[in-house]
Amino acid sequence: MKKTMLITGSSSGVGVATARYFAEHGFNVVATVRNPDTAHGLDGIANLMVVRLDVEDTATIESALTVALERFGRIDVVINNAGYGQYGVIEGMPIEKIRKNYDVNVFGVINVIQRVIPILRQQGGGIILNVGSCGGIFGLPNSAVYISTKFALEGFIESIAYELASQHIVVKLFEPGGIMTPFHERSARESNGNGNVPAYDAFLASTQEAMTKLAEGVATPEQVAKDIYAAATDGTDRLRYCAPYGVEHLVKARRELDDQAYERFMRAQFPGTN
Ligand code: NAP
Repeated sequence: MKKTMLITGSSSGVGVATARYFAEHGFNVVATVRNPDTAHGLDGIANLMVVRLDVEDTATIESALTVALERFGRIDVVINNAGYGQYGVIEGMPIEKIRKNYDVNVFGVINVIQRVIPILRQQGGGIILNVGSCGGIFGLPNSAVYISTKFALEGFIESIAYELASQHIVVKLFEPGGIMTPFHERSARESNGNGNVPAYDAFLASTQEAMTKLAEGVATPEQVAKDIYAAATDGTDRLRYCAPYGVEHLVKARRELDDQAYERFMRAQFPGTN
């Protein structure tokens, strides 16, 4: 029997590429988007349906799951991919903007997971793969809110992996580095820059080059889709899949240096922070 995968945030970038890749590799796919008018590149694919799902809106999560089960009968893999970032210094950042980022990147994931658990248990098991970030492994300047959402996800996903193993549900965390998607443009659009505090201008100017380089991204969404597919279908209960596209040196430093050597290493990456 064909397996079914449901993914959030498939209007662009990693989401659309992953939805296509799974459909091309034998899965039924429920490609969810928060606004169906933005579902480009998913037309005319056999066994792929586009369904509305806004991770901030519980009713749309429930209705998407209902529609998915009506059409395909079961859900084998759920991919929490929806997420966005925002750049800028924390001082002066409106608390509503901070909460909104958590609402999507953290509470949105929790909301989806809570609703799919009973379905997966009833089926005898399933896989929940979550798109985190290498930004859940190390911190970066001018990105504290986004980075902290991905750190939160790390702790949440690692913790539920234990309890959901008892329900035969395998939980995975995919941690990508830089990908060439609209993500960075969106994060820049959401930026509050210097927070109207000119005292940060010199710091922002000195870290800008390094941050721009990191933000460029080196992996295509198609490459990432292939790696996500490999992680979701490897038949293991492995939790973490670090895919450090372009940021291998930062992951290595975090893993291999002691805390103080790591701090010195990171400050040296960002002139103006040491
Ligand atoms: P993207 O092209 O900007 O796609 C983000 C997706 O999330 C869009 O489909 C967007 O939908 C969706 N989304 C945002 N808010 C949503 C909500 N409330 N409900 C449902 N969907 C929502 O960026 P991407 O690079 O593919 O990002 C995918 C994932 O990879 C994110 O979790 C991101 O944090 C992670 N990631 C990206 C990078 C990178 O370098 N690009 C690196 C590490 C991790 P709309 O079009 O409706 O806004």
